[in-house]
Amino acid sequence: MSKTHLGHRARKRFGQNFLHDQNIIEQIVDVINPQHGENLVEIGPGLAALTEPVADRTDHLNVIEIDRDLADRLESHPFLREKLTVTRGDAMKIDFNEFVNPEQPMRVFGNLPYNISTPLIFHLLQYTDRIKDMHFMLQKEVVDRLAAEPGSKTYGRISVAVQQACRVTAVVNVPPGAFNPPPKVESAVVRLEPYSESPTPVKDRQQLHALCLQAFNQRRKTIRNNLKGLLNEAQLNQLGIDPGARPETLSVADYCAMANYLTDQKN
Ligand code: SAM
Repeated sequence: MSKTHLGHRARKRFGQNFLHDQNIIEQIVDVINPQHGENLVEIGPGLAALTEPVADRTDHLNVIEIDRDLADRLESHPFLREKLTVTRGDAMKIDFNEFVNPEQPMRVFGNLPYNISTPLIFHLLQYTDRIKDMHFMLQKEVVDRLAAEPGSKTYGRISVAVQQACRVTAVVNVPPGAFNPPPKVESAVVRLEPYSESPTPVKDRQQLHALCLQAFNQRRKTIRNNLKGLLNEAQLNQLGIDPGARPETLSVADYCAMANYLTDQKN
């Protein structure tokens, strides 16, 4: 397949793989189910494969695009330009509060550039109290990690961070052939729905993220070893956590209990 799609040469550095399979595009838009009057935000609209059918179902759409040529095309698009507010720049640096109307939480979606999908999800976790839901196309392997249960090989720090904040559902699997150029890996769309009240509350999310970074640093070591200098054996026992457990066997609730303990100690 050609590296040029609709007259645009795909740029690797921006993770550009453009969706062209109309069946898949329809399935994704049905899953997003956009409605008139909603506060929709698309990350990386590209050549508008998702933007056009979403805009067909609604009156306004905020889009964030880093590639100037693509942003220019969107702003001069014959049908779309009336409906779009185009923000040029890096979604990782965007303050998503900009798109928030207190009456209307955001609905964020996008076929994300795979090279930045994990840090972008961490960035968006800062805004979950203002987000109704998120639908993202990701590498299938990343979707598996987001949805992984304790004890599985793919369970790690991003599983804990995301599951603490959101209900996670894998919704559509997408083969490489649905894109131009095709990526080397399978893809999938995930739905993330932030909890209004998390079943596992944390007092300080940054504390949870820092703890998980250290806890999962060496998966083959015990939690006692990985958390040396942060929590000792007596403290782990006090929290009901087996110091000899491997990091991937502990639940989201266990990680939240450890993070809340550390937050309380600081205050
Ligand atoms: N939505 C289109 C589609 O489905 O065909 C394009 C998807 S392509 C995988 C990723 C898009 O994100 C590209 O348009 C790329 O230029 C844009 N992009 C890459 N990095 C970005 C960033 N940091 N912030 C905003 N957009 C970005």
